[in-house]
Amino acid sequence: MDGGVEKFDLAIAGGGIVGATLACLLDGLDLRVALVERRLPDEGGLPFQGAELRFDARVSALNEFSRRVLVDVGVWSEVRAVRCCDYREMRVWDAEGTGSIHFSAAALGAESLGTIIENSVVLAGLYERLRGQENLTVVSPFTSAALESDGAGANLTGECGRRLRASLLVGADGGNSAVRRLAGISSRERDYEQEAVVATVMTERPHEFTAWQRFLDTGPLAFLPLAAADESEFRHSSIVWSTRPDEAEELARLPDEQFCARLAAAIEHRLGAVEWCDRRFRFPLRQRHADDYVKDNVVLAGDAAHTIHPLAGQGVNLGIRDVAALAEELRNGLAAGRRLNDPVLLRRYQRRRKGDNLGMIWTVEGLRRLFGVQPLPLRWLRNTGLDLVDRASPLKNFLARRAIGA
Ligand SMILES: Cc1cc2nc3c(=O)[nH]c(=O)nc-3n(C[C@H](O)[C@H](O)[C@H](O)COP(=O)(O)OP(=O)(O)OC[C@H]3O[C@@H](n4cnc5c(N)ncnc54)[C@H](O)[C@@H]3O)c2cc1C
Repeated sequence: MDGGVEKFDLAIAGGGIVGATLACLLDGLDLRVALVERRLPDEGGLPFQGAELRFDARVSALNEFSRRVLVDVGVWSEVRAVRCCDYREMRVWDAEGTGSIHFSAAALGAESLGTIIENSVVLAGLYERLRGQENLTVVSPFTSAALESDGAGANLTGECGRRLRASLLVGADGGNSAVRRLAGISSRERDYEQEAVVATVMTERPHEFTAWQRFLDTGPLAFLPLAAADESEFRHSSIVWSTRPDEAEELARLPDEQFCARLAAAIEHRLGAVEWCDRRFRFPLRQRHADDYVKDNVVLAGDAAHTIHPLAGQGVNLGIRDVAALAEELRNGLAAGRRLNDPVLLRRYQRRRKGDNLGMIWTVEGLRRLFGVQPLPLRWLRNTGLDLVDRASPLKNFLARRAIGA
């Protein structure tokens, strides 16, 4: 502390999955690290665990790369032991049911295509792991409100007036990143004019460890399989229904019974009736990409740098790739005697991640547009193309391997 300013070598603004994973990755380095978070996850155990089986409405499909990172930082086995569901198949089809594609883990020689896991379960595991980390101070509650940079570092001031100083500030504070805005980093944005309605549901038939996705005219609807307390059941899924904002509002307000009926019809009763649904949440969907990931003593990672449509379930996975690359560059740079905020080191991180993130953004955008097209000839082309891809194993395997992060 110096003149009321708390000093660190590196501060991470935002303790979501991406920021907390970075904090774990920096364990063992000779650095004083601060993890700055507006609101910590519930303390005193995991939410949604108790006598009654309840799930967090926010789930992520983690791919192989993300799983490996969580294994490396020593979080995966605890997280896995709580609750998660490996999915082995993915079925995607369009509104008319004329074009479809099917991915299976067995065809790729993999055990699964990914793992569906509640965000609160991952966060609880990460914070448990961080508890004993010697080089880390968790600064919370702290809402970043002002930022100044000079030649040697960045000063971050919270709404509460608390002041922090670090040689390097990592903005991992989500899509509406205050750090990105305060650092004056511009971004390209597109409003998808869609909202995602998210909820846990229970279906008549088991989910078959399959991720189901149907592209409706208004946007994609996904059913992601969840674990169950009773092995014979496996009838819970997490749904992500992306649609026009007016329909999202209507869906969120419908009485449970009517919502369940609409949902079952929208997924063409592939899992029978929808028998129960939990509370519904709405998320506006925007595509964003920061023009720069690096400016002065600030670097961006995760949703602060890029947000994409959830249809391919890649947001967290890209963010974890960001911080894995950043941690590696920082380690290598420190070993070579470089400063943490050395522009050469930070630009190398940006080069490694920008192309990959943009590639995924455009892949997802391509899929979204392909399935959003209305004119009949284009639909015919798309459906024929999908069926061809479905039959062309090498191309299909290439696409699948990229998505599962192999
Ligand atoms: C409906 C939906 C479904 C999705 N499904 C998937 C999926 O299946 N797979 C996948 O990989 N991705 C998925 N995503 C994307 C994924 O949720 C995000 O990419 C991911 O949460 C980003 O993590 P993050 O840590 O970068 O940001 P966030 O999770 O947004 O975390 C940011 C953290 O910063 C804190 N913060 C914010 N502002 C401040 C401030 N001013 N001061 C201090 N702290 C602050 C917040 O409290 C928060 O803890 C989905 C997204 C949506 C909307």
